[in-house]
Amino acid sequence: MMKTNNLHFDSRVIHEGLNPDEWQGATLPPIFQNASTLHKTAESLSNTFAGKEKNHIYMRLTNPTNSAFEDKVASLENGKGAVVMSSGMAAVTNTCMTLLKSEDEFIAGSSLFMSTYLLFTGVFKKYNLKARIVDIKNTKEIEDAITDKTRFIYIETIGNPKMDVPDIEKIAKTAHAYGLPLIVDNTLASPYLVRPLELGADVVIHSTTKYLSGHGAATGGIVVDGGNFPWENNKRFPDFAPFIERKGELALLDKIWREHHINFGTTQAPFHSYLAMIGVDTLALRMERHMSNAIIVSKYLNSHKKIKWVNFPGLSDQADHETAKRIFGDKGFGAMIAFGLENQEQCFTLIDNLDMIYHLANLGDCKTLIIHPWSSQYVSFEPDVKKSLFITPGLIRLSVGIENPDDIINDIDQALDKI
Ligand code: PLP
Repeated sequence: MMKTNNLHFDSRVIHEGLNPDEWQGATLPPIFQNASTLHKTAESLSNTFAGKEKNHIYMRLTNPTNSAFEDKVASLENGKGAVVMSSGMAAVTNTCMTLLKSEDEFIAGSSLFMSTYLLFTGVFKKYNLKARIVDIKNTKEIEDAITDKTRFIYIETIGNPKMDVPDIEKIAKTAHAYGLPLIVDNTLASPYLVRPLELGADVVIHSTTKYLSGHGAATGGIVVDGGNFPWENNKRFPDFAPFIERKGELALLDKIWREHHINFGTTQAPFHSYLAMIGVDTLALRMERHMSNAIIVSKYLNSHKKIKWVNFPGLSDQADHETAKRIFGDKGFGAMIAFGLENQEQCFTLIDNLDMIYHLANLGDCKTLIIHPWSSQYVSFEPDVKKSLFITPGLIRLSVGIENPDDIINDIDQALDKI
């Protein structure tokens, strides 16, 4: 395996996690399409089940193609280990449920991806798990919400679709002062823009369906464990002892994998890991272009007389602009833009008149994508809940792709002319 720790990040996205020596010279992992793995001796299978030998057993548990992708993303996020899963939501669900037991609580910012919000405030209630949704920028509000039953704090690097940027460093300090881990969904930023573990977060989650893959060809999710959180002797986590004994600093990842991932059967198909692996090769170049395009497109939208408002942390008039600059450095501000028209009718006219931009429910694709959240993902939400989540009839969400920026602007411009 090549030594990669002396390489720049944009070279590491290509070379991390590759092991041609073990793959008969292939420079991408072969797709190991086998449900189960042969063991030559009874002792070998027994030792593998007991965790004394590192082999594969059965695809629901582990798979060599998946392991290659896990190693790659763990390294890019500067984590100690990772588990890939069938979707981003599988990663969110397994991570949170591993840390919670009935009657427990956790704290989350209000700016959450739609399914995460539904999971936290709806599904979890059935299991007596309480999400305390707070203004995550307000440290006092976070502290006031912490009780003996709190198990973690959960945020997204860039809130979807509000496009707000919480201060990861500050929230991590608050979490740690109370013995709580901080979980960050880094899907909208990608490790190219920011690595939350370096800012004090403890766990990172991705929907690999988005920027990590970039081609929109495969769904997937991943959990990366920073391996730094002190689970031992923490009264909030008395059930960690056997996992600490078995895996030390990777106790959480082992617990997620052993208790939930393999029993809930949230296995990633190796072909999806293979596709994601190909996608990550171009992550750095794509993110550069995504983000420079987003700055150009956001300025165009901000100056258009039919656009009421624009939310994009790269604009200097935005509430989180300074926080975003500090957290993201000089690389950019992501490539997701929310903007407002007068009403739903105007949004429909815009979308229906686009020629190049795709109207579909996804983001982080190399193609520019657009959606009207009010009438699509959030259509069955009560109007007052939609409003509390920043979802209004005039809201458009744009995932800026890597096409020529003039073509993105020209397409929006000719469609806005029809309003
Ligand atoms: N997290 C964020 C921020 C997302 O935007 C999404 C999906 O859009 C998810 C998680 C869920 O990912 P998946 O669709 O792969 O389950």
